[in-house]
Amino acid sequence: MAPAPPLLDGHYGLMHPVLPPGATVLRCGPGQLQVGTTPPLRVPDLPGTAQILRHADGATSALALAEIAERDGARNGRRLVSSLLSRGALVPSVPGEGSFPGITIAYEPLTARFATTLETAASSPGDDVTILASFGEPRRSAIRDLGERGLTHLPVVFIQGCARIGPLTHPGSSPCLDCYDADRSRTDPAWRVVAVQLGAGRPAGGPPPRALMLSAVGHTLELLRLDRIGTVVTVGQGCEAGVSEPVGWDDACPCQLLAA
Ligand SMILES: [Zn+2]
Repeated sequence: MAPAPPLLDGHYGLMHPVLPPGATVLRCGPGQLQVGTTPPLRVPDLPGTAQILRHADGATSALALAEIAERDGARNGRRLVSSLLSRGALVPSVPGEGSFPGITIAYEPLTARFATTLETAASSPGDDVTILASFGEPRRSAIRDLGERGLTHLPVVFIQGCARIGPLTHPGSSPCLDCYDADRSRTDPAWRVVAVQLGAGRPAGGPPPRALMLSAVGHTLELLRLDRIGTVVTVGQGCEAGVSEPVGWDDACPCQLLAA
C-alpha cells in the first residue's frame, strides 16, 4: 500500500483549527454531521470526524487532531482534518498580530500598483507565501510549478472588472488552482478545455481601477491573516463586498501527492 500523502506538512500541521465562529456540531441524519447553520456545512460522519470536531478547541494542533482521529478508527487522520479545513467545517484559529506570513509578490507591469500597495500594507517581506498577481488568467503551468516546488502560493487574478483571490495553497495540504478548475468544470464542462489555454495571450486593457485594486489588497490581507484555505474570493463589479466560493479537493488532482 502506498504511504499516506504527508498532508498537513510543516507549519501547517502545527496550526490549531477551531470550528467557525458561533458554529456548533449537530447531527442531521444518519451518517451526517452538520457544522453551524448559516450556512450549514454537512460532512459525512466518518470514523474520527466527530472526535476531530469535538477536540478542535484551538488548543490542539492539526497533527494532534489527526492522531486523535486515527485512534478513533480513521484510516488517514491527516486527510480527514485537511478535508474538514477545505470544506470550512474547521478554520485556522486567528493568528496573533505577530504571525502574519512573510510574503513575496511576483507581478506584471499592469498589477505593479497592486503589488506595491500590498507590500506596503502587509509590511511583512519573506518567503512563507508567494503571491502571483496577474492581469488576466495566469498560465496554469506557472502556478503548478510553484506547487511542485513546495512553495505556498496565492494567485490574485484581475480580470473583466473583478479580482479573484485564491485558493491559498499549501502544496499537498490544501486544494490548488487545478482543484478549483476541476470544481468549475463540474458546472461548466467546457472549462477544462478552456483552462489549458489560459495565460497564452496578452489580455486587453489597462491597470485595474484604484477602488478595485484597494479592495483586492484588503481581501488578500484578510485571507493571508486568517490562513483561509479552500476558498476563492471574488470582488468587483456586482460583488463589491466580495463573494466567497469553497474549493474542495479534486480526487484526481496530483497536488495531494506533491509533497510525498
Ligand atoms: Zn489540486
